[in-house]
Amino acid sequence: MSPKPEHHNPLEDARAQLAEAVSFLGLDEGMYQMLAIPRREATVAIPLRRDDGSKEVLIGHRVQHNISRGPAKGGLRFSPNVDIDEVRALAMWMTWKCALLDLPFGGAKGGVQVDPRNYSEGELERITRRYTSELMSFIGPEKDIPAPDMGTGEKNMAWIMDTYSVAKGYTELGVVTGKPIEAGGSRGRAAATSRGVVFCALSAMESLKMEPSKTTAVVQGFGKVGRGAARFLWEAGVKVVAVADIYGAVYHPKGLDVPALEEHVDQTGRVTSFAGAEEIPADSIWGLDVDLLVPAAVEGVLTEENASQVQARLIVEGANGPTTPQADAIFNDKGILVVPDILANAGGVVVSYFEWVQGNQSYWWSEEEVNNRLEQRMKLAWREVGKFARDKQLPLRTAATTMAVERVAQAHLLRGLYP
Ligand code: NAD
Repeated sequence: MSPKPEHHNPLEDARAQLAEAVSFLGLDEGMYQMLAIPRREATVAIPLRRDDGSKEVLIGHRVQHNISRGPAKGGLRFSPNVDIDEVRALAMWMTWKCALLDLPFGGAKGGVQVDPRNYSEGELERITRRYTSELMSFIGPEKDIPAPDMGTGEKNMAWIMDTYSVAKGYTELGVVTGKPIEAGGSRGRAAATSRGVVFCALSAMESLKMEPSKTTAVVQGFGKVGRGAARFLWEAGVKVVAVADIYGAVYHPKGLDVPALEEHVDQTGRVTSFAGAEEIPADSIWGLDVDLLVPAAVEGVLTEENASQVQARLIVEGANGPTTPQADAIFNDKGILVVPDILANAGGVVVSYFEWVQGNQSYWWSEEEVNNRLEQRMKLAWREVGKFARDKQLPLRTAATTMAVERVAQAHLLRGLYP
């Protein structure tokens, strides 16, 4: 299965969303260009010595889309589909997400074109360290702060922190977030994105008068975001009837036993061949007769081709950019509520911000404090976006993007253009 529909360019989607916001706000072409063109980009070669002694060169990117509100912030992705336009789009969405949640960050993203499933842990460590080393002058706690994304996790973050710290000659916790707790990570970070996704799902369900115990859901992706989302939905009483990962999809009309599925995934590394469900074609998940869809894998999966099959009333975007603008228009016409990525999956960067603050201050918060602060931030953003959307009669995505673009544009205007 191809992880991204062919010919799909997420940068076109991101720029179309930006253009809509710029036009709504009445900003000029010059401001559009300031916001459409990334501020800084680096592409690096990553020579790798493989375990068998052979050598190969991988390509890595880091894009700082905008730094007008603070240091750039965004994840690092390891995936065979990484290309510069994907990284640019993801970096732009990070700028909007940080502005929407009012975090003092700009947006960035990084990627290495590699399928981590085909590399040993030692090889992945060497890739991560060399990527960090190549970008030493580009990243830093006051410049650009990476975090986990698809195909990376807390181990990669510990290696980045260590590589950076060794070069500096002192430990620098603030250079990266999503670290293991024992190496300067924050309590509550690992589950934060999923928590935020489910907070948005439950809030949207409340506004649509959907009772959790009578709601059925599909989750695509069973990694750091999708797995937690499925678990928290299940805990809230929602029936998660189907889950998909890169290997396939599993289905049970009465609802999957999510904790049992988690155990199965821990043992086998995939959702398929789970005894408590039947296997269904991966692309059939979107047309299932359910109430809620949570795409939490890759971008560009809800398209013009499959949007009309969707029967759900609500879509909550765990992934970045899962819905193309064409699919968005169809959902809008059909009256399907879409909670956009930059709001729905912002929990991760909110707690990344908390981790950065804690690391810089060398002062640790309890998990309860982290979760309470996360909830406050998500609640505020949820209310603000809802109000803006109602007041201006806009879909939630346009409302969220417009609010974020306005904040970033305002920072540019107040700072002025140098020289
Ligand atoms: P991950 O690598 O932990 O998990 C990805 C999951 O998606 C895996 O289960 C994988 O098998 C599955 N997958 C990959 N390609 C697929 C395909 N074509 N079809 C079906 N399933 C597929 O990654 P993650 O961190 O959970 O990230 C998932 C999405 O969430 C990405 O869009 C990412 O940018 C976004 N996101 C992540 C975070 C975070 O904190 N990790 C925060 C915000 C947004």
